[in-house]
Amino acid sequence: MKSLMDITNVCHQISKASFKNSFVNKFPGDLSGEKSTRSTPKVLYSTVDPSPVKRPKLLAWSESLGKELGLSPSHDQVDVALLAGSLVVESMIPYAACYGGHQFGHWSGQLGDGRAITLGELHCEHSHFEIQLKGAGPTPYSRRADGRAVLRSSVREYLMSEAMHYLGVPTTRALSLVSSGESVTRDMFYTGDLKDEPGAIVARVAPSFLRFGSFEILAAREEYENLVELVEWTIDNFYPEIIGEGEERILNWFKEVCERTADMIIHWLRVGFVHGVMNSDNMSILGLTIDYGPFSMLDDYNPMFTPNTTDLPGRRYAFSKQASIGQWNLERLAESLAPLFDNNIKLEAILVGYQSYFSENFYSMMGKKLGLDEVKSDDDHQLISQTDQLLRKLNFDMTLFFNLLSDVESASDPVSYFEPALYRELNTEEKKILTDYIDLYLDRISKNSFSRRASIEIMKKINPTFILRNHLLFNAIEALARGDNGPFEELREEIVNPYAKKSGALVKRRPNWAKNTPGCSTLSCSS
Ligand code: AMP
Ligand code: MG
Repeated sequence: MKSLMDITNVCHQISKASFKNSFVNKFPGDLSGEKSTRSTPKVLYSTVDPSPVKRPKLLAWSESLGKELGLSPSHDQVDVALLAGSLVVESMIPYAACYGGHQFGHWSGQLGDGRAITLGELHCEHSHFEIQLKGAGPTPYSRRADGRAVLRSSVREYLMSEAMHYLGVPTTRALSLVSSGESVTRDMFYTGDLKDEPGAIVARVAPSFLRFGSFEILAAREEYENLVELVEWTIDNFYPEIIGEGEERILNWFKEVCERTADMIIHWLRVGFVHGVMNSDNMSILGLTIDYGPFSMLDDYNPMFTPNTTDLPGRRYAFSKQASIGQWNLERLAESLAPLFDNNIKLEAILVGYQSYFSENFYSMMGKKLGLDEVKSDDDHQLISQTDQLLRKLNFDMTLFFNLLSDVESASDPVSYFEPALYRELNTEEKKILTDYIDLYLDRISKNSFSRRASIEIMKKINPTFILRNHLLFNAIEALARGDNGPFEELREEIVNPYAKKSGALVKRRPNWAKNTPGCSTLSCSS
């Protein structure tokens, strides 16, 4: 583990780094620096300084990300203040971005960074990265809220975004986690039960935090000149591979956004991730998993599972709905781009293409989870839907099921073999469903064009052994509140190798106590 000395040296380097501000320099902004809540037409951001905190303390630093950003240790002095928002260096022009969004299916108008402030960009050899503080105090977009974040949600974002990175899922990343030494008042389940909780700040990193909503607000305000500029700038900076001119270039780009969004969601389905609040302001224009809030990994397989209590009535953001919600959000993005075209025909054709792209790549991914050489025949498609039905009917733990399936040949009795992946005893009919499925599966596997060994290799690369389950996060957060950072550090180490062979409590199914524990199985947006 890194010593605190090394960590603090790294921090000092950031304050010496030269920040660039290409977004701010390119686009019109509201430069007043005022924090009061207001509507900001005709601009894409408002400059605003983070609000200093009382006693910032560094809880975590992502060394590997630091290295990627060119921030490697030196022997200087400590500067956690910068990661806490208490220090702004000369090369920074901190700002909050203005964006809109569709929340739970309805247009919400202007939203914007209410508790995130971008400090600036670090330009590396081939790319550039925004450094953004989440929980750094009020901005013009904070509306009635405080611009702060609680420790529990910050720990969740820090660990989960890093865990997703190591799982191979496109995501924003977390550079540091700092406790603020200040308390934040929250009504965790909107029941009127106000509580003071410790506050924290995550420094998160992405090439850009632009969202679908960044484009939607410009279209809604009929600010088409800014809209075209933003599209062109996004392509120039983050999609250099896009070819063509004029309309064709924008269409090629939109198609790529659709495909990146599909790829991201297919990864979510692969590892069992439920985002929980896929509003269009939480959809990255780069196809990154963004804005970690009431998310959860799946324990027992339930396609209609949503971890977000606000989403419970409609289950709009349930696990298996994420593909179609992705499309719904892309439709809203297409509507925002429509004013740049003579008609909608070509945009609509691309949206239709999303469905076939998604379907083809989803089945290919599922084939790999099962260790198939290809997914071509109707029988293969059927095996994949039978797997879905089996997991659903028997409430299998999705992750543990696929781990066990790799070595199923070694089982003399499939029912007892799969016991560690089940949450309840099976009845006679269910036992038969399971044994029939295994027979079918082994029969199909025997027809692969390559060896079973090769098939298992594929499965082990695509099926994680370790996933960051909510109860593990919950335990780590509870321990941190008691001043014990042991479980948090253990998770930080564990997330780095999610496909390695593992044993022990961290890779077991969710314990019973966690099933209905608030803040563990059920979460809200109140963070
Ligand atoms: P979310 O659903 O978390 O992405 O948030 C939706 C909108 O509410 C975004 O514009 C956020 O910036 C804003 N927001 C959420 N929490 C806070 C907070 N504590 N203070 C200010 N704005 C917030
Ligand atoms: Mg958001």
